[in-house]
Amino acid sequence: MKPRIYYTKPSITDLEVRYATDAAANGWGDRCYEYINRFEAAFKAHLGVGYAIATSSCTGALHMGMAALGIGPGDEVILADTNWIATAAPIVHLGATPVFVDILPDTWCLDPALVEQAITSRTKAIIAVHLYGNLCDMDRLLAIGEAHGIPVIEDAAEAIGSIYHGKRAGSMGLFGAFSFHGTKTLTTGEGGIFVTNDPELYEHVLTLSNHGRARGQTKQFWPDMVGFKYKMSNIQAAIGCAQMERIEELIGRKREILCYYRERLASLSGVSMNPEPAGIAIGAWMPTVVSDTIANVTLASLKHAFVVANIDARVFFHPLSSLPMFESQPSNEVAWDIPRRAINLPSYHDITDEEQDRVIATLEAVFIHASAREE
Ligand SMILES: *Cc1c(COP(=O)(O)O)cnc(C)c1O
Repeated sequence: MKPRIYYTKPSITDLEVRYATDAAANGWGDRCYEYINRFEAAFKAHLGVGYAIATSSCTGALHMGMAALGIGPGDEVILADTNWIATAAPIVHLGATPVFVDILPDTWCLDPALVEQAITSRTKAIIAVHLYGNLCDMDRLLAIGEAHGIPVIEDAAEAIGSIYHGKRAGSMGLFGAFSFHGTKTLTTGEGGIFVTNDPELYEHVLTLSNHGRARGQTKQFWPDMVGFKYKMSNIQAAIGCAQMERIEELIGRKREILCYYRERLASLSGVSMNPEPAGIAIGAWMPTVVSDTIANVTLASLKHAFVVANIDARVFFHPLSSLPMFESQPSNEVAWDIPRRAINLPSYHDITDEEQDRVIATLEAVFIHASAREE
């Protein structure tokens, strides 16, 4: 059997190892926050935002941000049905209700018209998740938010490197959250970051992030409120600093991998991939193939072909409303339909052309076989 092709794996060089080793050996005492401060500064500069707080996860960053907005029992938060559970879990933990709306068939992100319809007097936030690095229609979402006095939050966990008309994903909403989990474009193993341009929100989340201890508080061990403990360690931040020095390379390589797939799969009829409309550049976290229903390709046949070829291929996110803990909402037709005919392709930075060719050949075999059956 040919060697396994993994769908993601981090890009780690001597630089990451060197910084992590330095943090482990020397990053204590006076220097215990050095890499964290550096990492936050580098991330702010990259994104063009005023404030950043490194966290232990994106989930934690979302949890604290929404807690700071006062979201709690009785409140509703609107998000796309197509999503990873991490965006919905903090809403539930805060005692609020996630409201799942359908996605657009081309970007696989929130449908703004349906967002507007879903707004009630209880709506406290809209979360724009930039799925697989594709971009939400931010102009419309921000306009809807403004018209109704509802903040738009960006879950940009998958969208490092994605640019919407000159603005980076994560920098446009009231706050943004990123993930540095090992599968993401930039990694610290586990980790995340909260970003905002709002000084008051920043102070509030900073206090929450330090177990409720305000930075102006002169009494030692004196929390002013019950907060959270979602901090990034200095050792994780050291790896992050190395990754930030390589950020353009990391994003560039992801884009190159998507382009390679896109060019070589263009001739397959009935197949679409991550869209990149005018004015938008995507970070290309997760190259994804969606087949037309007419192409007669089933998810089962795709998955089977990849297993046989020893290639990791991930299923498209299940609609959250199909999970047992939420109310079933098959009326979100696009979100319920696309996973039946879509697959994520391997895209780790070190993937070779030969490995991508193997993925492409596997896809081609399934599609050509399917169209032969159709005739
Ligand atoms: C990965 C991911 C998260 C969760 O990130 P963690 O760092 O694992 O908490 C949240 N939202 C989306 C869209 C993600 O892809």
